[in-house]
Amino acid sequence: MAIIKGNLRTCNKGHKYYKSSDCPTCPTCEQERKPNNGFLSLLSAPARRVLENNGITTLQKLSAYSEIEILQFHGMGPASLPKLRSALEENGLAFRK
Ligand SMILES: [Zn+2]
Repeated sequence: MAIIKGNLRTCNKGHKYYKSSDCPTCPTCEQERKPNNGFLSLLSAPARRVLENNGITTLQKLSAYSEIEILQFHGMGPASLPKLRSALEENGLAFRK
């Protein structure tokens, strides 16, 4: 007999997934929402949202901020900073001093 984890749900794109909670987020859609390339894909979802919510969607925009300013965004953890820094460096950019 199969063990059923939560309820089988189908999202509006037709992905099937099991969820025991009432959270309507489809993991496949959540994955697809991630940019495949670009620095935002390096970040955890909360950190990515912080930047997106502040309109920081490109490295050029990111480089207009200093590290201290980035850390002051609510939800941005220090663990994200090295990833952002190396993404900037790979593109010849840096945080504003
Ligand atoms: Zn989906």
